[in-house]
This record gives sequence, C-alpha cells and structure tokens, in this order.
Amino acid sequence: MSRVYNFSAGPAVLPEAVLKEAAAEMLDYRGTGMSVMEMSHRSKAYQAIIDQAEEDLRKLMGIPENYKVLFLQGGASQQFAMIPMNLMKNRVADYIVTGQWAKKAWQEAQLYGQANAVASSADKTFSYIPDCSDLPISDNADYVYICENNTIYGTKFWTLPNTKGKPLVSDVSSCFLSEPVDVSRYGMLYGGVQKNIGPAGVVIAIIREDLITEDVLPGTPTMLRYKIHADNGSMYNTPPAYGIYICGKVFQWLLNQGGLEAMKEYNVKKAAVLYDFLDSSTLFQGTVVKKDRSLMNVPFVTGSAELDAKFVKEAEAAGFVNLKGHRTVGGMRASIYNAMPIEGVQKLVAFMERFEKESR
Ligand SMILES: *Cc1c(COP(=O)(O)O)cnc(C)c1O
Repeated sequence: MSRVYNFSAGPAVLPEAVLKEAAAEMLDYRGTGMSVMEMSHRSKAYQAIIDQAEEDLRKLMGIPENYKVLFLQGGASQQFAMIPMNLMKNRVADYIVTGQWAKKAWQEAQLYGQANAVASSADKTFSYIPDCSDLPISDNADYVYICENNTIYGTKFWTLPNTKGKPLVSDVSSCFLSEPVDVSRYGMLYGGVQKNIGPAGVVIAIIREDLITEDVLPGTPTMLRYKIHADNGSMYNTPPAYGIYICGKVFQWLLNQGGLEAMKEYNVKKAAVLYDFLDSSTLFQGTVVKKDRSLMNVPFVTGSAELDAKFVKEAEAAGFVNLKGHRTVGGMRASIYNAMPIEGVQKLVAFMERFEKESR
C-alpha cells in the first residue's frame, strides 16, 4: 500500500488515523456484528453516533445553545436554493460575489426573489475580497450572503462584512473547522463536508433558531425545510448515516489535535511553507492578493500553460496528485486542508524547487 499526497479540492484528503479506525470497525462496529453502513438509523447504536458527532462539533466550534446543527444532503449546491426558500421572507437578499460558488448561489436566489449583488470581485478574476465595511445593504434584506473561502480562486474573507444588522449567511465549505469561528456573528453557516471534514454526501448547517420557522416560500418541498430537519434531529428521513459517522470521527480527531486553535496554528504554518516559496520563486507565482490569501486553497501559475501542464504531470508521477487548477481558471491549485500533513507541503515545495532549477 502506498498513499499519495492528495491536493484535491474535494472530495479531499482525510486523516489517516480516521480511515484506519473506520477500516477496523468496518465488519463489526463495536460488537454490533455489523458495519455502520448496514445499521438502522433508528437503532440505539446509530443514535449514539449522531448524538456524539453533534456534541463534538458543538464543543469544537463553541456553538451557542440557540443554534441548531443540521446534517443534510444535496451538497452545498442544494443550499443555494434552500437558503432563499427558507430565509427570504421579504424576497430580498444581498449577495457578495467573490467567485463561482457565490455567483451560483446568487443566481439561484434570483429564482426566488430580488437577489442583489452588493459587491463583487469579478473585475479582477476574483483574485481579491472587496472592501465590505460599508456596503449598500438593502433596508429590507432578509440576509447578506458570502462564500467565506473561495475554493477555486483561493481567497478568504479575513474580516466578515458589515451586514448592518442583517443576518449573515456564509458558505464555509472549504474552510470548515480550519480555524476557530465566532458562530454568534452568523445567522447561518453551512458547508459540504467533502472539502475539509468527511466524505461527500453530507452538508452541515448551523442555523440560529429564530431563523428556522414554518414561514417559508410557498411550494417549498417538505424535505427542503430547515424546520422539518431541526424538529426531527436530522432524521426526518434516512440521513447520510455512514458519512455522518466519518464526520464524527474527524471531529474526535480534531479534538485530539487540540481543537481549532491548534488547527489554525498548524494551518498557518503549513500554508506559509508554500506561500513563502511562491513569493521567492522566479518561476511560480501565486494568483491572489496577499492579504486575502486562503489557508486552504493555494492557486499558482508559471505563466506558461505548457509548463503548467508539464509540472502537473511530473508532480503526479512523483506522488503529488490533483494539483491541476480548476477547469475554469487553469494553472495549479494545491488544496491543503486540515488532514494534509505539513510534510506533504514541504515535499511539494522541494519538488517545485527542483522543477524550477531544471526549467531554467
Ligand atoms: C465545492 C463547493 C461547493 C459545491 O459543493 P457541492 O457539495 O458539490 O454542491 C459550494 N461552495 C463551496 C465554497 C465549495 O467549495
């Protein structure tokens, strides 16, 4: 068996310890004589798994009592519709468009009401985060929406926007659990777990209770109502049971690492290895305004599409896989989520140094 260094943006690398534990429990989960995959979600054993997962997530993030934690399906993309269906009471919302995922959310919201783009960084290929300290927030906006870490472009909101009292809704798919957050500053934060937490198929939404109501847009399907999932402990129907089990293991792994403070410290150190190299390299360069750089997704280019392709190919042969940039932007992107060990980034940089010398 040989494991590669997997720089995929998602589904992405998971902690090896978690995979090993799951493997050991595959045939007989703690004396039940079956895999978690085969277990009724109404069983005692499974209830304990989902309860523990929620408790550990609450502990990790310090989630206040007046927020619900929902385990949902449909990917982050389904939230692009669920958010307006459930939260757009006045049918007005303000969107900050900082990349493709924010843009998709904004466009989806237009199906349901007036979705205003109150700021955008499209003018410079989403390579920065606009100043959001004094935006023209609509008086009757139901919420202000951001994508907090832009997976494709590699930017991150290091300062949350001034929403002028409106609830902030944030897509944290690619920065989930990468650092401590103050949940109370959000009306809702959510993410697909396949970037930084677990296997594809689970979406975690953390929503302030007063925003979860029966007052949803007409025609909102039962399955797309937050209240239904909140009232049924995320088990209105069969939840993505095995995925939640793996997420729970990752939560425990994070607690064992020292929690999100420790994770942030590690992530800052890890990202610096790559960014410092990019800043000193004469071949490779980062594509993002420095102050807005993500700790999780690091896009870079050589300036030559041909050389980019050669690099991606040779890197793969050397065991550094999934470094090709998103199909819409080209170049390279190294996603260095929580579970990517710092050695993976150090070895990648050593490989890049060699490639740079040989390309001279
Ligand atoms: C990947 C991603 C999405 C889309 O996730 P799906 O689960 O595939 O729908 C949305 N937002 C962000 C920030 C992402 O990184």
